[in-house]
Amino acid sequence: MNRSEFLRTTLGIIALSNTSMKPFKNYDPLILIGKGSPKLVGTSFSILPEVKVALEKMTQAAKNDGIEIKVVSAYRSYDRQKSIWNSKFVRFEKQGFKSLAIIDQIIKYSTIPGTSRHHWGTDIDIIDGSQTNKGDLLVSKNFHGSGPFNKLRKWMESSAEKFGFLKPYNQDPERKGFNYEPWHYSYAEKSIPMLNAYLELDAISLIKDGDLLGADLLDSKFIKTYLNTHILGIDKALL
Ligand SMILES: [Zn+2]
Repeated sequence: MNRSEFLRTTLGIIALSNTSMKPFKNYDPLILIGKGSPKLVGTSFSILPEVKVALEKMTQAAKNDGIEIKVVSAYRSYDRQKSIWNSKFVRFEKQGFKSLAIIDQIIKYSTIPGTSRHHWGTDIDIIDGSQTNKGDLLVSKNFHGSGPFNKLRKWMESSAEKFGFLKPYNQDPERKGFNYEPWHYSYAEKSIPMLNAYLELDAISLIKDGDLLGADLLDSKFIKTYLNTHILGIDKALL
């Protein structure tokens, strides 16, 4: 099944009962959905070894220009993503949102567990560690104008690609899905094949996860749209 065939089919997100699932294109489906045990490196955060090598080169180059690339989030497991999802669900519910409106609020910035690029060990969220900032770090105003991470954003926009890192959630007005995230970068060489393998997982069914708040709202129609807008709503260079 190729990608367009996959997207035409009305499928759910992922198969979670997978003992019979075979590795696809050298990728363990469990790893692609954040439930496996990828070989990661790092202490304060975890990423694939190849990504670490490239990141270290980029970090050194940035340092020479007075910028301290600090990773605030890298690999995230399914369970970690689920706890983020559930806490946001509760928060938006308390704010008065109902049903799908809660989901719509969450998926402005956060993924449905099992669909995060952070499951792969290829993607990072970064700030400039040389700057002090109070409150939420990962908000776009911090990366623009007089924000503390404006210099980092500009440096990344001119230099990151040389080290293999691209920004999936860019400011392209044509792009759908997740909001603009100037802090999120992806190591293209590793994430492109993982996305392709992910999209062709053929044993996909809606999450049957009793602990996931709002799981009953994530029907096949919703998921089909979400895949098109959110999972494929990235910089075209990463497709
Ligand atoms: Zn991110």
